[in-house]
Amino acid sequence: MVIILTGICVNLVVGGFFWHYRSAAGRPLHKNILQYLNYIIADLGNPPRLERARTLGRQASLQIYYEGADMSWTTAENFSDVYKAHWRDWSKNPLIRLGRYHGHHFLELSHDSGRFIFGLDKSLELDPERRRLVIVLLTLLTLILAGAFLSIRWILRPVRWLHEGVREVGRGNLKHRVPVKRSDELRALAEAFNDMTDRIRDMLHTKEQLMLDVSHELRSPITRMKVALEFLPEGQTKDSLKSDIAEMEAMINDILETARMHHLHGNLKRQLINLADHLKEILVDYAKQPPGVQAGEFPTGIELDVDPEQVKTVFQNILTNAVKFSDPDDKPVMISVIKQANFTVVRILDHGIGIPPDELPFIFEPFYRVDKSRSKRTGGYGLGLSLCKTIMEAHGGRIEVDSKPGVGTCVSLFFPQ
Ligand code: ADP
Repeated sequence: MVIILTGICVNLVVGGFFWHYRSAAGRPLHKNILQYLNYIIADLGNPPRLERARTLGRQASLQIYYEGADMSWTTAENFSDVYKAHWRDWSKNPLIRLGRYHGHHFLELSHDSGRFIFGLDKSLELDPERRRLVIVLLTLLTLILAGAFLSIRWILRPVRWLHEGVREVGRGNLKHRVPVKRSDELRALAEAFNDMTDRIRDMLHTKEQLMLDVSHELRSPITRMKVALEFLPEGQTKDSLKSDIAEMEAMINDILETARMHHLHGNLKRQLINLADHLKEILVDYAKQPPGVQAGEFPTGIELDVDPEQVKTVFQNILTNAVKFSDPDDKPVMISVIKQANFTVVRILDHGIGIPPDELPFIFEPFYRVDKSRSKRTGGYGLGLSLCKTIMEAHGGRIEVDSKPGVGTCVSLFFPQ
């Protein structure tokens, strides 16, 4: 924008300069023009002679038109522009009127012997020399501005790198590094940015490691508690303790499973599966859970090279969420399979409560639950989607969620071909 505005301003200044220059250059002419025209009229004789007008016209590159009481003539073959011309008085000389038609200029002078109109030869007006100069000037200006624009872009490259860096880190890619090339203030900024990303990664890693260690350590006491529980007399306390321990155990298993999946890349037990058969097997479990799951578009014969157990976990997590966050009398959850150029997409669409738009970016984060109270009721620790994302990425695919509160949620699973 700055460059464009500069371009406009520079052109206005240069244009203004030329305009001023032109009117300044014409000033002496204003004073002399009447005298000059009177000389020509006197030279034409009385009555004015066409022959003489032709000679003078040739010499001075003028077209002359005369209209007297007894006769009228013109030196031009085609003088029709005179009749179409737009006429106005000339402020600098009240005896002269100016006419203009399509870039053709005329001067009208009323004389004792009649009315004279002088037309400037078009070849004179065009002044190709000046025109070329203006084109060269505009080209040079454009080149200078384009050069300035490119050099500003080059100078500000590190800002673009930093912008990309912020976006990547914002997306969770903490391995991204901003190039550190130049030796100026922007280099210091890029180094500081990279240091900050390193520190955030270390902090997250430490936190993750601590959680893993604690989860791991908790397994043995939980097992001991389970054994001890068996010796307690039956009753409400025992049941409540049992359910609490089961919840803790499930949570710890989820945490450990997510961590295991993070290091799974390349360790998948891949095999070719028939997608339709695999899904049908999983769907059996959901048939009796209201609002139920219905198969939509479902091409048969699609084979995927995946780890069947892990992919089953993904489908189960997504389907469980879809059923869990729907009302029993909502429309059934729809599952469909679509073939795209590079991916097979499995879509799971529910008509449940949906997810608010400002929560969507966070649902793949471990332990993220949209509504903590509702999640307590529905169970779950916010680990399901994080695990699904890890599994899908380990397979070279991805997961996308679209949702509208009160309308429903659509989860798309992209499996590479
Ligand atoms: P959870 O174990 O709590 O279900 P997830 O990681 O599977 O954890 O999901 C994270 C959060 O995203 C859930 O707590 C829930 O609020 C929201 N969510 C996931 N799927 C759906 C869905 N189909 N409809 C509405 N909200 C959903």
